Amino acid sequence: MNYVYRFRLYPNKEQEKFLNIQIGHCRFVYNKLLEMAKRNYEQEGKKWNYYEYKKLLPKLKRKFSFLKEANSQSLQEAVKWLDRAFKNFFKGLSGFPKFKSRKKTNSVPIPQHFKVEGNKVRIPKLRTPIRFIKHREIEGNIKSISITKTPTGKFYLNILVERKIKPLPKTEKAVAIDVGLTHFCTLSTGKKVENPKHLIKTERRIKKLQKQLSRKRKGSRRFTILARRIAKLHEKVKNQRRDFLHKLSKQIIGDNQAVIVEDLNVKGLVQNTSFSKHIADASWSRFVQFLEYKAKLYGRVLIKVDTFFPSSKLCSVCGFKKEDLKLSEREWECPVCKAKHDRDYNATLNLLREGFAYLKTAVGVDCPELMPVEGTFVPCEAGSSSIH
Ligand SMILES: [Zn+2]
Repeated sequence: MNYVYRFRLYPNKEQEKFLNIQIGHCRFVYNKLLEMAKRNYEQEGKKWNYYEYKKLLPKLKRKFSFLKEANSQSLQEAVKWLDRAFKNFFKGLSGFPKFKSRKKTNSVPIPQHFKVEGNKVRIPKLRTPIRFIKHREIEGNIKSISITKTPTGKFYLNILVERKIKPLPKTEKAVAIDVGLTHFCTLSTGKKVENPKHLIKTERRIKKLQKQLSRKRKGSRRFTILARRIAKLHEKVKNQRRDFLHKLSKQIIGDNQAVIVEDLNVKGLVQNTSFSKHIADASWSRFVQFLEYKAKLYGRVLIKVDTFFPSSKLCSVCGFKKEDLKLSEREWECPVCKAKHDRDYNATLNLLREGFAYLKTAVGVDCPELMPVEGTFVPCEAGSSSIH
């Protein structure tokens, strides 16, 4: 399966200049072709394919001679990005392709003729190798690389490898996870996983500074300084969150044979303007992605339960559905069987049951030993994990 390693890259001044040119030229080609394709699509309703874009590349190169500095294979990859963006748009999977902005994260793909040696990487057209921090060994066959520059000017090396699936020893544990509102998530073991404190702290800081920014005159010196500080914090929070989600997903996949989550279709959710809600949704879908590829890599099962399954509203004891359960009700009592519920924990038990029902009916169940006796659960040992 495909797997991406990400390492911080430390180019010297000369290499940085070179990378900026490569990344800039890729963005330029992408945007130019997008401009033409957009006109073509809007005025004549034509849908181009990859070869039609590719044909335009030599023309662009003739017209803009500075493109000679670029690695031509990188430019061809940029064309593939655009083709993919349009394909997704035509399939209804995403919105109309957007122009790439210099202010956002940008990349240059390098499909061939690179060399990763120790903690250095050699790329076409650059004489000297660039140093990177190799914080872990690379397993699997390297297929291609790309280099990314973040809005605050940091560079990262992404190494795409084909990795062999390495099943972990089987376990009979299963867990269901419910997305939290007041904390990150709740496990069917009864454990609530909090958002890490340092993450909350950085997020709070961003909010505060953003308020200050809104009072500054746009384009003024103070505005620029503050905006740069905010961008730095955004990057910090992104890295902190990624780190947290990796650790948590690794632990959950390691501990359980089957993991059941709610499949929040983030795209289908009503656009919510609240900043924190937006972040929460985004980290949840990221988390599910991490669980998904780790499950694949380690031979585990991930079951996604439909968003429309009313996991919070069902009584996990008798099955009564409390239609009028409000979002603010963190605890409730079932009017039928009088069971007292913690909202989130109750939801995880319902998800667990739904996941098991799915395992039972699905063809080619991977872990039949997980099937519980009707109405009972196979919970993990509460408190066995050290997530906090
Ligand atoms: Zn009940």
